[in-house]
Amino acid sequence: MPSLQINFGRHVAWTSNFPLGLQVDRAEGPFIYLDDGRRLIDFISGIAVSSLGHRHPDVVQAVKDQVDRYMHVMVYGEMIQAPQVDLAALIAEMLPPPLSVVYFTMSGTEANEGALKLAKKHTGRSRMVAFERSYHGDTQGSLSVTGRQVYRDPYLPLLPNVDFIPFDDVDALDAINEHTACVITEPIQGEGGVNVPSPAWAKRLRERCTETGALLIFDEIQTGFGRTGTLFRFQGMGIEPDIITMAKAMGGGMPLGAFVSSPEIFGSFRDHPPLSHVTTFGGHPVSCAAALAALRVLIRENLPERATEIGRIIRSRLQHPLIREVRGEGALLGLELANRGVTEFTVNRCLEEGVLLGWTLHSNTLIRIAPPLNIDFEVLSETLAIIVRILDEAASGRKERFGKR
Ligand code: PMP
Repeated sequence: MPSLQINFGRHVAWTSNFPLGLQVDRAEGPFIYLDDGRRLIDFISGIAVSSLGHRHPDVVQAVKDQVDRYMHVMVYGEMIQAPQVDLAALIAEMLPPPLSVVYFTMSGTEANEGALKLAKKHTGRSRMVAFERSYHGDTQGSLSVTGRQVYRDPYLPLLPNVDFIPFDDVDALDAINEHTACVITEPIQGEGGVNVPSPAWAKRLRERCTETGALLIFDEIQTGFGRTGTLFRFQGMGIEPDIITMAKAMGGGMPLGAFVSSPEIFGSFRDHPPLSHVTTFGGHPVSCAAALAALRVLIRENLPERATEIGRIIRSRLQHPLIREVRGEGALLGLELANRGVTEFTVNRCLEEGVLLGWTLHSNTLIRIAPPLNIDFEVLSETLAIIVRILDEAASGRKERFGKR
């Protein structure tokens, strides 16, 4: 029998020539244990997924209980399945009215696909406005509104009638007009470099959408579920979107996404034709049971507030000449480093020292940090000490290795 390593190389599709290739044995809390006995501190949470750490006991129990009752029974939206209904009701309770109707999906990109379709159907318009450096997923609709041409180019033609404007540029918002079905944006751009927009921009964005009748879609797939200090990021911005998309941390480690809007807007999916949007596996009862348990933990333990505290600690400890800027909100942070060489060195050396850091799709000088929101403060402190030590190493060897800044 070929080894797992060999079969991974041969049979699992790679989309990068440099996969990490670490063999996972098990994961618990903030730690991932590898089959060679190494322990990694997960400082990226599977890219903002494991916000409760790995295998939170409440989530594990909910999954087991649900598996013992039923798994798949019928496509979404036909039968009354308690985990779906209870989860939708709790999400609605946490959101301001009229955001009270939840359509479940399996992933983030599917949530965005559904939201874009819903906006077109509801407004009867087709033009979409999106932002440079945005990321909304890799299926063709989401890719059509993703603001990095290099990822779109190989797949052209994509959806027509999409216009990209600069992020956080108030004047550019004039491009939103009466032909616009929707404007889609992340409240903080994640993959694009952890870019936080100004309150003035957010306010004008909301106004411009309201003036023109364009629906405002907030992609909270990375920012949602407490990561930035409020349950959803828009709740800290003083504006409300018409549609929210969510996924990642939602399922507590199980695959789940959703798009949420008002009863009025969702009414558009019911006729001309009926069943305008269906899914077989979206809202899988086991994923919903996990998500319900995860959301209850998040609320009970006030983890959004803890995200803010984690962010404060990280910012105070990560002050270093090689760090040009720390961007982000709460526990979604980006460290802009001096150059690409320093960034690669830091990520690689941290991994050797047992700290798993993140990168972003669109920037090679940025390290993304998104630890579990319930990470023990001692583990947090230990991790930050390692990062600072590695940055010191980079600084001491920088002239030889990386040239002048
Ligand atoms: N939107 C945003 C803001 C994301 O960060 C991501 C994933 N990185 C997606 C959409 C796509 O989600 P998924 O990978 O679950 O399709």
